[in-house]
Amino acid sequence: MAVSSPPFPKRADWKPPFLASPRRLDCLVIFGLLKQRKRRRLQSRPFPKEWLEAIKRNVAFFHRLAAGDQAEILRHIQAFLAEKRFEGCDGLEITDEIRLTIAAQACLLLLHRKTDYFPRLLTILVYPSAYMAEEKRQLQEHVWEEGKTTRLGETGRLLGSVVLAWDAVRSGAADAADGKNVVLHEFAHQLDFENFAADGVPALASGEQQISWHKVMQSEFASLRAADESGIPTLLNTYGATDPAEFFAVSVEAFFEQPHALRVRHPKLYAELRSYFNQDPTEYSSERTTCD
Ligand SMILES: [Zn+2]
Repeated sequence: MAVSSPPFPKRADWKPPFLASPRRLDCLVIFGLLKQRKRRRLQSRPFPKEWLEAIKRNVAFFHRLAAGDQAEILRHIQAFLAEKRFEGCDGLEITDEIRLTIAAQACLLLLHRKTDYFPRLLTILVYPSAYMAEEKRQLQEHVWEEGKTTRLGETGRLLGSVVLAWDAVRSGAADAADGKNVVLHEFAHQLDFENFAADGVPALASGEQQISWHKVMQSEFASLRAADESGIPTLLNTYGATDPAEFFAVSVEAFFEQPHALRVRHPKLYAELRSYFNQDPTEYSSERTTCD
């Protein structure tokens, strides 16, 4: 959903602050090693039985994962919950069920990949249900409209937070094949932010992957925009036609929730996402296909 994208220096002009001094670099290396050690300690803790029961009760895809992948997600959840702060909004009391239902879905995006656990994210704010937010929309050049909109979730590159509506989180977790999942959507934005931009391009492993990604995503984004303008039905939610960042988030929802259909109708897009996420959701999806 909505992502705020404040102005940011052009990439060519920007230099990471840690390049300033070798001594600071040493400190960062030590800090990184200590962080990794702490995470390994967290991941090796026994997973509480009542936590596992809450995940099995609320998160539909979890049952269909291979045993090794279930174990990996549980390890990620231990680290995720230790590092992220949860806050209830509008009187919502944060429970283990809420934390686990969000964490299990977010950690699906980390499976089989080297991860730094959504490094731009500090806090997860949770409303009981859809909430109202101020929004300024551009109608035409120099013409803006201000008003309130109803939202199920949002995040921003410089906000350090993800905002979620609990009832949408719960219904998204319960149905793993309807193509709608607010947690996957908002945490896909967090992956997009990992390389300091909100441009629909997450941190990719190689120059070759970047070239391929740009080519495929530009073409698929243009196709979705054209379909949206002409009213042609699409598998991808046309909210993805808003901009490349939303296109990536909407594609991630489809990749995990409707992988068979996405692979058939958008094979190049599916291949890029499969390569980035290093997993193939057709292996565990509950999506109904024509073969069922
Ligand atoms: Zn979005």
